[in-house]
Amino acid sequence: MDKLGLVRDIDLALHLPLRYEDETRLTLLRDARDGDTVQVEGMVRDNRIEMRSRRQLLIKLDDGSGEVQLRFLNFYATQQKAWAPGVRLRVRGEVRHGFFGREMMHPAVKVVSADTPLAEALTPVYPTSAGLPQTYLRKAVASGLERAHLDEILPPGVVPAAWPTLRQALNFLHHPSPDVPLATLEDHSHPAWMRLKYEELLAQQLSQLQARQERAHLKAPALPSRAGGLHERLLSVLPFQLTPAQRRVGDEIAQDLARPQPMHRLLQGDVGSGKTVVAALAAAVAMDAGWQCALMAPTEILAEQHFRKLVGWLEPLGIKVAWLTGSLKAKAKREQMAMVASGEAQLVVGTHAVIQDQVEFARLGLALIDEQHRFGVAQRLQLRGKLKGADLEPHLLMMSATPIPRTLAMTYLADLEVSTIDELPPGRTPIVTKVFADSRRDEVIERIRDEAAKGSQVYWVCPLIDETQESDQAADQAAGRNSNQRPPLDLSNVTQTHQELSDALAGRAVGLLHGRLPTAEKAEVMARFSKGELSVLVATTVIEVGVDVPNASLMVIEHAERFGLSQLHQLRGRVGRGAVASVCVLLYSSPLSDSGKARLKAMVETNDGFEIARRDLDIRGPGEFMGARQSGAALLRFADLGEDQPLIERARESAQMLLRDHPHIAQRHVQRWLGHKAEYLKA
Ligand code: ADP
Ligand code: MG
Repeated sequence: MDKLGLVRDIDLALHLPLRYEDETRLTLLRDARDGDTVQVEGMVRDNRIEMRSRRQLLIKLDDGSGEVQLRFLNFYATQQKAWAPGVRLRVRGEVRHGFFGREMMHPAVKVVSADTPLAEALTPVYPTSAGLPQTYLRKAVASGLERAHLDEILPPGVVPAAWPTLRQALNFLHHPSPDVPLATLEDHSHPAWMRLKYEELLAQQLSQLQARQERAHLKAPALPSRAGGLHERLLSVLPFQLTPAQRRVGDEIAQDLARPQPMHRLLQGDVGSGKTVVAALAAAVAMDAGWQCALMAPTEILAEQHFRKLVGWLEPLGIKVAWLTGSLKAKAKREQMAMVASGEAQLVVGTHAVIQDQVEFARLGLALIDEQHRFGVAQRLQLRGKLKGADLEPHLLMMSATPIPRTLAMTYLADLEVSTIDELPPGRTPIVTKVFADSRRDEVIERIRDEAAKGSQVYWVCPLIDETQESDQAADQAAGRNSNQRPPLDLSNVTQTHQELSDALAGRAVGLLHGRLPTAEKAEVMARFSKGELSVLVATTVIEVGVDVPNASLMVIEHAERFGLSQLHQLRGRVGRGAVASVCVLLYSSPLSDSGKARLKAMVETNDGFEIARRDLDIRGPGEFMGARQSGAALLRFADLGEDQPLIERARESAQMLLRDHPHIAQRHVQRWLGHKAEYLKA
């Protein structure tokens, strides 16, 4: 029961049936067609054990209109005794035509008398886990439902009058009357379902709005921007002008930082829109005010790139930057941690090693999380805890290149402020995307030869998924896979492709990058590619996020049909970063699934990350879109983001009203629905 999360009475009451069985009526054997699942009642005429292919119990049942044979391969001696000739049985199962006439295999059997009443409601069939029988679960749920406090706590007007009360809705959904149109239960359009979905959405909206309100009571260091301060000096050494969109979001962030409440902001912008520099400017404001910053990235390659860039920009301005990743040697790690703890390093860049328990900050004022969708909620909570001792929380800026469609943002990110960079830096030529069958591989390699001859650089990405590096696990999460669902290893061998390209492009330096290489080697390969020493980089998805080499103008993705849409978009975003026109070639092998086709088509049709995100949501559905680990994704059990948009809007309005006018009611509602999970939702 605990495994199913059925701890409190209310959890049991909310454990809804998967489907129902109709035990409210009897069918005459005469009327039952083969393949029907029916309930019949009759007398046992014969009962014997036979050895056919194996030992079995055969019972002949007669209901006056016809006969059926009940066949049991597994049975107890007590059952054989109890189901003796002359006994009245009520059985439920599928009627089929067997070798020895009509039969039911392993029906559900109940010994009854002539006046045993039929069920009045449909019988629920609950989701269960191995070993937990339905009969047990039914009893547990029924008594949980009875005990649960389901009094109406929502004030009148919040719930449409046509909907049942919560108690009525749940009683009904567990035991619907047999005359209900089953379709309204299946498509969740029945008023009882509406009530339940609405309750759930309301709880979620409330908890997020509450989190937002609570944050207003939390304290954070106020970090006002100072004229002539570090961020202005940084601006003056940048080799480019900020775009208007960068300036706008920069101002939004600066205003948050100046306030003595923790910022909790998501910075979204398409790949290549220039989020890093916005983050760096925010960090400059914080450091100028005398506080430390932490920048956390999901992979070492990305973290290292940020590190180099930030060191390049900030060290000349007198800022000391520490470096922390899991792969550092113990001694080096201790040294870096000491610099962070003493405050000597004003900025620390790294992977999630940055938030490990041993890492102590002297004065953490601002935490920056790049590609936030790659991190779990737990990690965000951990980061926010880093300043707890001082009774202050750090400001938090999360960055994401996967724009969140509006419905999702409203449901899952209602407690976040969102800043959006909606334009790319000038001078970029749009990427042209082409789809080729793998049989045209040679043409593609020819094209690579031309590009390399012109001095351009090329990425070739292979979907080798069997890597246990953090980056690839994250990729799995982002693609909504879990590790035991991974495609087989030999799908496309990155080293083989590396060999193939090295042979075909004799005279050109072809690099190889995958998660299994030692960290130092990964860094070395990446550095050589950045410097232009390698013409081609054959890589796995370790380069998916953030990697920035402006001279690369051709991206080939092999087995593109295997990648998720947002992943393809991320990968494509590695090119088109300089002024040269860039091309992305998607190689696929047949046959293509429908969703594979839809993904490739979307890639050809649009370069716009928001449009990509919308289509991705259509193709995959919200659960997968957000990734299994994302906050709340697993918590919406009843509502459906695609179909329940109007309910979401309504829940949002009611949540605002309740928090304003009836805060105690709001509190009770959240407690009832989310209980111990409430804390988690706030991250
Ligand atoms: P992302 O938003 O995907 O993280 P980056 O921050 O990596 O994008 O920026 C992509 C590239 O664009 C980098 O090389 C960066 O230096 C450059 N860049 C950022 N802002 C501008 C700008 N305003 N003008 C020109 N280039 C810019
Ligand atoms: Mg980035």
